[in-house]
Amino acid sequence: MADWESYLASAGRHTTAQMERPTIYLVSACLLGVPCAYDGRGRLVPELSALASRVSVVPVCPEVAGGLPIPRPTAEIVGGDGGDVWDGRARVVTAAGADVTDSFLRGAERALAVVRRHGISVAILKQRSPSCGSACIYDGTHSGTLRGGQGVTTAFLRRHGLEVLAEGDVADMLKGL
Ligand code: SF4
Repeated sequence: MADWESYLASAGRHTTAQMERPTIYLVSACLLGVPCAYDGRGRLVPELSALASRVSVVPVCPEVAGGLPIPRPTAEIVGGDGGDVWDGRARVVTAAGADVTDSFLRGAERALAVVRRHGISVAILKQRSPSCGSACIYDGTHSGTLRGGQGVTTAFLRRHGLEVLAEGDVADMLKGL
């Protein structure tokens, strides 16, 4: 089994008991506390844990699914946002200048495969990430500066019809459950 398949199988294991429920959300794995971020840590958001106890969630980390290691160098999109990456106008590059675009594209494709496998139509992904950002990302200068735009996986999922939300939307979602 490929590494990313092992990862996805492992990440999904703790949600199995919830999978009979009708609404399933794709969620950035780091937001559920999975230590898959570039620094080897998670980005647990308590509201996500609350949501996961009430609906079915499938965690995915596109960067790990695309073959990148944990930990890994930070990367930013240079020349545009995730949509521009898919259109060939931008690349994903580390601060040291390594081009990791292919891994980001592969990870997005594997995230879509997970979506299709589970019949998912809504994703909740981590804001600011070059993969998962939905409204803002870092600007490609590796200076901590944000710009409007979406990540590579977000752009791909939206092009395939998914609604992509961010962790900041979860509190309002919980009110409606
Ligand atoms: S790629 Fe997405 S899920 Fe993975 S660590 Fe980055 S923000 Fe989290």
